[in-house]
Amino acid sequence: MLKDKKTKITFHNGILTIGGTIIEIAYEDSRIFFDFGSEYDPASPHQPKDLQDLLDMNLVPYLDNMFDPSIELKGYESKEDKFKDTAVFLSHVHLDHSKIINYLNPSVPLYMLEGTKSLLNTLNINNDFLFPLHNQGESNVREINGVKENEVVQVGKIKVKVMPVDHDAYGASGLLIETPDLVISYTGDIRLHGYRKDATLNFCKESENCDVL
Ligand SMILES: [Zn+2]
Repeated sequence: MLKDKKTKITFHNGILTIGGTIIEIAYEDSRIFFDFGSEYDPASPHQPKDLQDLLDMNLVPYLDNMFDPSIELKGYESKEDKFKDTAVFLSHVHLDHSKIINYLNPSVPLYMLEGTKSLLNTLNINNDFLFPLHNQGESNVREINGVKENEVVQVGKIKVKVMPVDHDAYGASGLLIETPDLVISYTGDIRLHGYRKDATLNFCKESENCDVL
């Protein structure tokens, strides 16, 4: 809770882990989340097979109204949805940031750079990259809004600029988030070298006067 601001930032997951970041920024009846993956340990003998397992094993936090309501869950129930506008943003394709997007409530729009959208659809062509959709449609991946580099998306009272950055995943981005009383920069995974070093430097420059997550 920020004392003098109406903007609320909640770190739901990924504080003490590498990856699995789920952060929420809310302002009045608008809110956004960024990244929708899960921490995972490929060496663990017990692997989660579905959303119920992920929640029960504390690998994913229960988030009110954010999961596909057609998935029956034991022991979890959402409260009334007080938000008018909700959206999720994905910084890049790596699984610790993307693995549970098919469990996202179909009524919540999901945004990412076009490059990440195209990679996710390709990597999941055999339905074995992400957790599978509960209601299988024509595609193996839920609906995605691909955005152009530096495009600004308005979610109620929150504005999000999706900016390219360098990372070892094509299509990676950072987010510049503007609420009526705060500007926040979310780096995603970022590196200061590589083929898109210039994009990283540009993102850092625009983030200079922000609070950085
Ligand atoms: Zn990464």
